[in-house]
Amino acid sequence: MRIDIATLFVEMCETVLSESIIGRARGAGHIEIYCHNIRDYSDDKHRRVDDAPFGGGMGMVMQADPIYRCYCDVAESIGKKPHVIYMSPQGKKFTQQMAVEYSKMDNLFILCGHYEGVDERVIEEIVDEELSIGDYVLTGGELPALVVTDTIARMCDGVLSSDECFTDESHFNGLLEHPQYTRPANWNGRQVPEVLLGGHHANIQKWRREQSLERTLRKRPDMLKTAPLNNQDLEYLAKRKETVKD
Ligand code: SAM
Repeated sequence: MRIDIATLFVEMCETVLSESIIGRARGAGHIEIYCHNIRDYSDDKHRRVDDAPFGGGMGMVMQADPIYRCYCDVAESIGKKPHVIYMSPQGKKFTQQMAVEYSKMDNLFILCGHYEGVDERVIEEIVDEELSIGDYVLTGGELPALVVTDTIARMCDGVLSSDECFTDESHFNGLLEHPQYTRPANWNGRQVPEVLLGGHHANIQKWRREQSLERTLRKRPDMLKTAPLNNQDLEYLAKRKETVKD
């Protein structure tokens, strides 16, 4: 998969995307990520890419043309129109399920806004979707683009050591993950649950599933309304309800 990020702050993006798992995955060729400086596409002698809003008001607006040229350059180099996402507090709220769908795509072009945002006409011209990472406003689209890129990239083939690394995690299957422990078995008088030390695979799996249900019930009961639950899960939750009643 290839992700192109159009930004005014390439270094900020590269700093994050060169580190750790994503940095190594890029190095090994499991995923291609390119950060493009929108200023490189300005025809202004001072590399200006913003101007005052028509109609007056606070702040500056990113101009359509440099963004459009950057997009055309990427489309030409990959030989087709990439799926274009504009990071925006006005967009659909980003979820793990969306990330799963994006991770199956060949190309994504992510546009980061800044200042008051970008000229509406370039959104109309090239953007397929507006995505938000939450109901709050940041100074720019870089942090949201990095959040989205990281979430997608870790699900691309070869980036993590196996698919289980992400399919067993919170949100992938509609539940929160069970608690995790590592050595020492006793820390500050707190003992690791006995079942995890016994090596009985089926018992460990059962305990983990129940803990997962338990945590979701306690921390995010809203998720249980849509989580795909099997008969055993439903039995466990029904029993638990009775215990709470007693
Ligand atoms: N004037 C815009 C509005 O009220 O909708 C907000 C502009 S914001 C200060 C600058 C840029 O940050 C946006 O163009 C967008 O790219 C990015 N941004 C800010 N908050 C975001 C969020 N919650 N999710 C995604 N992108 C966000």
